[in-house]
Amino acid sequence: MDRVTAPPRVKPRFATVWLGGCSGCHMSFLDLDERLLDLAALVDICYTPVADVKEFPEAVDIVLVEGAVANEDHLHEIRLIRRRSKLLIAFGDCAVTGNVTAMRNLFELDDVLNRAYKENSAIVAGVPTGNGIVPKLLPQVLRIQDVVPVDHFLPGCPPSADSIHDFLLGLLEGRVPAGPARKFGS
Ligand code: SF4
Repeated sequence: MDRVTAPPRVKPRFATVWLGGCSGCHMSFLDLDERLLDLAALVDICYTPVADVKEFPEAVDIVLVEGAVANEDHLHEIRLIRRRSKLLIAFGDCAVTGNVTAMRNLFELDDVLNRAYKENSAIVAGVPTGNGIVPKLLPQVLRIQDVVPVDHFLPGCPPSADSIHDFLLGLLEGRVPAGPARKFGS
């Protein structure tokens, strides 16, 4: 009788994204240290700012999204990410509530631009606004959930490495319930 060989196990495709945030959530992700190797054994890391991949890929199973939606590039990006991802996790307080990124909502947009790009023009010389170099800011900073459906929220500023680890392991082991419309692995 021929031996039946089980097909190789396909690892979930995993991504992380950095929108309007300070990168602190990704720093906390890197604080997983040697546990990153355990994670790498469980998933196929297909996109992350930590690696040099230019375009967000198709058919992503799990994506952590750091930061709020602050400009038109972010808006385009988060819609693309949602279309291409099964489970989208708002990663950190800026993604969940707007947090630090949304503090500029307290001010007029022109005042923000003047303060950042004109009054300090000596610091950012050569980076004028409105010429396509700096993405156009949205009138208000938005939470991820204001733009696209979010499957899970992982709060914290930043979330601790332990909470990231526990959450991801729980998700991969099926201990974190996924929404019925986007059940992981279906
Ligand atoms: S939640 Fe905190 S650490 Fe994460 S991007 Fe926002 S300000 Fe930075």
